[in-house]
Parts: sequence; structure tokens; C-alpha cells
Amino acid sequence: MLIFELKCQSGHIFEGWYNNLEDLEQQLADQLVDCPICGHKKVYRMMSSFAIGGKKSPVSNPEDETRRSTQALKQAMHRFLAENFEDVGSDFFKEALKMHYGSLPLRNIRGISSPQEEEVLRDEGVNFFKLDARIAPPDSEEPEHTPPHKNKNKPAN
Ligand SMILES: [Zn+2]
Repeated sequence: MLIFELKCQSGHIFEGWYNNLEDLEQQLADQLVDCPICGHKKVYRMMSSFAIGGKKSPVSNPEDETRRSTQALKQAMHRFLAENFEDVGSDFFKEALKMHYGSLPLRNIRGISSPQEEEVLRDEGVNFFKLDARIAPPDSEEPEHTPPHKNKNKPAN
């Protein structure tokens, strides 16, 4: 599972969780993706993915990011997560595994996992991502680890 950052024709930025890039591209091509803000179906992929913490995540160079854009991105992510991800709390581990094995449909979830659970998820090949538990208010100090990364690709037109 990968998180992709998307942008609608009206400029709204949001994210979607897809099995892989092909899955996303197909859904974009079929106009199955619409903007959660305005419902627009002209949606473009902005960035690669957020799969922080997963072994299979594509790695770019977070160091290349300026602090500011990283922070802005992080805030946007937190906002998005709060609004669009179902909070499953301590069931995150179970829910993520169920989705991974197809016993639950894929959906956006967030929650709490222990380091041991994360270890298992990684071993199982579950692509999840992890943010600092603190929801960073604007202008707060940047957490040191797992910065989101940007793709160098331009959105495909
Ligand atoms: Zn929109």
C-alpha cells in the first residue's frame, strides 16, 4: 500500500492510498479518483508516495528537501490524516494486516502501533507509514525522523 499525493484541477491537494502506482494510474485514467474537497475528477499525481517506515518504500533524498517544504508537507499530511483516515487506535496492527491479506477492503486508517507490531508489519511486507505521534502545530519544531519525501517527477498531464 502506498500513499500518493494528488492534486485536482482546482488545486486542492489530497492523498490516496493505492496498492501501487499502476493501480493509481489506472484509476486516474478511468476517472475513478475524485477530489474529496470539490469532487473534481481531473486529478493528477503530484508526488511519488509516502511509505515511511516500510522497507519497500522508494527512497529519494529527504535531505534535499528544504526544512520549510518538509514542514508544510508534514502539516498538510497531518491535516489530511486527521480528516480522511479512520482512527482505529490500537487496532491499527490488526486492521492493517487484515487489509494486507484482503480480509478487509483497503481503506485509509491511522492508529497506534507498538515497535513489535511494526516489526511484524514490515516482515509481512505491509507498506505502512509512520508519523511522529505529536501532531505538529504550525511552526512547531520539526521532528527528526521519517521526513516525507518528494518525488522529482512533475505531475503527469
Ligand atoms: Zn478539488
